[in-house]
Amino acid sequence: MSPISSSDRIFEVETRQALGKLKPYSPGKPIWEVQEELGIERVIKLASNENPLGASPKALEAVQRFLPELHRYPDAQAVHLRKAIAERTALAPEQLIVTNGGDELLTLISETFLEAGDEIVAPSPTFSEYEFGATLMGAVTVPVPFADGFRFDVDAILSAVTERTKLVCICSPNNPTGVYLPQDELRRLLDALPKRVLVLYDAAYSHYVTAEDYSNGLEFVRKGYPVIVLQTFSKIFGLAGIRVGFGAAPEDIIRSILQVKEPFNVNALAQVAAAAAIADEDHIKASCEMNSQGRAQLYEGLRKLGYGWTESMSNFVLVHLGPDAARIGDGLLHRGIIVRSGAAWGLHEYVRVSIGTAEENGLFLEALSELR
Ligand SMILES: *Cc1c(COP(=O)(O)O)cnc(C)c1O
Repeated sequence: MSPISSSDRIFEVETRQALGKLKPYSPGKPIWEVQEELGIERVIKLASNENPLGASPKALEAVQRFLPELHRYPDAQAVHLRKAIAERTALAPEQLIVTNGGDELLTLISETFLEAGDEIVAPSPTFSEYEFGATLMGAVTVPVPFADGFRFDVDAILSAVTERTKLVCICSPNNPTGVYLPQDELRRLLDALPKRVLVLYDAAYSHYVTAEDYSNGLEFVRKGYPVIVLQTFSKIFGLAGIRVGFGAAPEDIIRSILQVKEPFNVNALAQVAAAAAIADEDHIKASCEMNSQGRAQLYEGLRKLGYGWTESMSNFVLVHLGPDAARIGDGLLHRGIIVRSGAAWGLHEYVRVSIGTAEENGLFLEALSELR
């Protein structure tokens, strides 16, 4: 029993009011948990958009090499990693902040810019951590529904902006829909927004995009727009377990965020792994190719089974299973296949399936056909 339950409090210290409004994050079930709970040996996780190829082998070597230095504190400024990122993004190191996963960047942005009563605008459904950061600071999230086919509705986003709006959050490609905001629409949004509004452009999945009219947002940072681009090493770089990501923004925005950053936020292994991974072009290319093939495989299988899906520019697909989605999701789990239920986003007829290896995708489709 928890010693601090509301019915039986052993202390009287009040938590901040904002905590009462926080919704807990629901991560994809870990493999070991399904193995233990259901007694299944072979468990396939297609629930957290991880890289099925694993980490860059160069990153793993870098981690190995660094182990004898673990008694040292990490570089608080992540100088080498920022330099490696700067070289590949044509940005200055001063335009970069390295964080403990992209998630930490979201909290830092919230702590830097949001006061109680401020508003953030975010298309809905999207990644839950924008709202988490806002709620933590006592700010309010204003959701803007997508248009048909989960397309971004720039006019609706602009209409939702008020005098209280501090932040507009654009996740492109969006999690969980996989839909991206075309470059000219992004430019139209940025040009129309008041300059006192910061745009968080979450490009966690940018490396998977093959559409010609996509922008990873960095060009707008280079031009000095009030934009911060989020990137992560958890997805294509295959380093979700080590926790590292970064933000790219005009220098004064970065300088403000650095004020609230803990000195040693990114551990030393994460720094060397990320620097190696970002230079490993073979791994990035192989990951992209595997993803494109897997996506085609899933589309083809879903088409044969008669299920709809949303065209994705990412490493996951939002699948429309219909009114039976909860039963089918449960059936998949009992066959050792973990996918993400759409229910957390209010998408009760959907599941989000990460694109896996050809074998994993095949087993998912096979299980789906058995459960139909
Ligand atoms: C995965 C993800 C992130 C960042 O994840 P970290 O593991 O914290 O780096 C950010 N935004 C979106 C939309 C994501 O899916």
